[in-house]
Amino acid sequence: MSDDRSASWAEGEARELLSLMMIGVCVWIVGTQLGVFKILLEFTALHGLEHLLMLAICMSLGIGVAAVRKSFKLRRVMEARDGAQAQAESVARHDVLTGLANRRLFKETLDARLASAEGIPSIAVIQIDLDRFKPVNDVHGHAAGDAVLCAVADRLRGLLPPGNTAARLGGDEFALLFDYGADTESVSRLAQQIITSLSQPIPWGAGRLEIGATIGIALASVETVTSETLLHAADVAMYQGKRDGRSTYRFFQLEMGHALKIRALLEQDLRAGIARGEIEPFYQPVVALPGRELIGFEVLARWRHPEHGLMNPSDFITLAEETGMIADLCWSLMRQACRDARSWPQHLQLAINISPLQLQDKQMPERVLAILTETGFAPSRLEIEITETALVNDLEAARVALKSLQNLGVRIALDDFGTGYSSLYHLRELQFDKLKIDRSYVASIPLGSERAKLVDAIIALGSSLGLLTTAEGIETASSVDWLADQGCTYGQGFLFGAPMGKSATDVLLAEWSDESGKVVLDGAAEAQRQLKAGALRASAA
Ligand code: C2E
Ligand code: MG
Ligand code: MG
Repeated sequence: MSDDRSASWAEGEARELLSLMMIGVCVWIVGTQLGVFKILLEFTALHGLEHLLMLAICMSLGIGVAAVRKSFKLRRVMEARDGAQAQAESVARHDVLTGLANRRLFKETLDARLASAEGIPSIAVIQIDLDRFKPVNDVHGHAAGDAVLCAVADRLRGLLPPGNTAARLGGDEFALLFDYGADTESVSRLAQQIITSLSQPIPWGAGRLEIGATIGIALASVETVTSETLLHAADVAMYQGKRDGRSTYRFFQLEMGHALKIRALLEQDLRAGIARGEIEPFYQPVVALPGRELIGFEVLARWRHPEHGLMNPSDFITLAEETGMIADLCWSLMRQACRDARSWPQHLQLAINISPLQLQDKQMPERVLAILTETGFAPSRLEIEITETALVNDLEAARVALKSLQNLGVRIALDDFGTGYSSLYHLRELQFDKLKIDRSYVASIPLGSERAKLVDAIIALGSSLGLLTTAEGIETASSVDWLADQGCTYGQGFLFGAPMGKSATDVLLAEWSDESGKVVLDGAAEAQRQLKAGALRASAA
């Protein structure tokens, strides 16, 4: 019970007591004035009833005391009831784990702040989403996840100036309601302080847990004057921050809302496109070095959009990953590719890219097997390419999935090697069959730069671990010779052929095979011209 309520209760009790006493005094005055008491005393004395009178007085006193006791008891009951009510209210408005306000209280506070302001208030909604929180939960367990959330709450409390509100909106999402007064710069300063503070490791057992934070900020403005629009705007800005590379903060801009609408339309379009089978496989040749003999193709997705024409993966793969559509997209692509490749020479292999999300799917190996069985494609002809981002999310799940695939006879390649942040760690932890050296390294070879030395080192590292290596993005003949000299096993790039549709691939195989079915892509200018023309014809088809 609050002190205020306690004081008003005591005041009420005192008033009631005083009123009763006043009534008593009035009765006494009237009684003495009219001589009623005198008559009563004389009557009791005359009939020897003084004891009865005293008994009546004593009983009245007893009743008075009982009434006061009852009142105290009542007070205790009311206190307990009010306490329970206050606790229930607090639970309904606070996050049980961190003690911060929950979404409901945050929204109520925001509503109240907006309603009490004259004009547009100087407030910012700062939405914070933790980076790398899921791996903490998955790898170290929920107790570690809870410890991280509590540490985050403590750090936010410590950074937020008094009089402002910090809340946990749910999961690993937090929000601050910050009144910046006349100092707009203070919002950016606070956001930066939060990012710095949350990137400091959190002690856990004998070790420490590392997370980060991405922040979206919405300032109240003519366009964002309700709690819903402010929260939505902060959310949009936060997602922009995630897309821009995490551990950063972004202020909401109106264009972001526009971009979001376009994205929603594209999402609808992609969903329908996948269902209508508009995503088709393109095939980019992979050759063995130094002979440049075709050994297979990498399967790359293209969207044959009814209005926009042929779209590249950069226009839709990220969206498909963010919305979970990537799995449907990839399985349909794998099915089409395995069917296409059935008529091609049996020694040709297919390499297919798998997204991080699919690696989390425990049924992934079974799904691959089902497609191989359905299309009659041998597992030994299939290679799965994964990027390191897939491994960062959940290394243990990746290990299990990759091992099951390898047990089927499928090979695993680590794609875009050198662009992830802990390549060596993943090489040690997981058993790959192949490394694909990212094209950003390969492109620098002709310059003879320091990066070329790195390519040399990667090839040496691969062969010391017994891994095959593919250099991606080979565009010049001189880099092929250099790569072959360093011991690189395979090559892929525009020099040997750009990704092309099924019909262009059929043409390539028909026109370039010798009697034994061998295709040598020697990079001759005329051959390339024909290949590119074939690819273009297929694109336009
Ligand atoms: P990636 O797996 O590293 O594929 C290689 C990319 O390099 C392809 O781009 C290819 O067209 C491009 N490339 C090949 N040779 C050269 C060259 O000589 N020079 C240059 N500048 N580029 C070259 P693309 O087809 O645009 O694909 C981009 C990325 O999209 C792929 O990178 C892959 O990560 C992703 N992707 C494509 N298809 C799929 C898919 O079906 N599923 C998933 N999960 N990701 C896919
Ligand atoms: Mg790839
Ligand atoms: Mg690659």
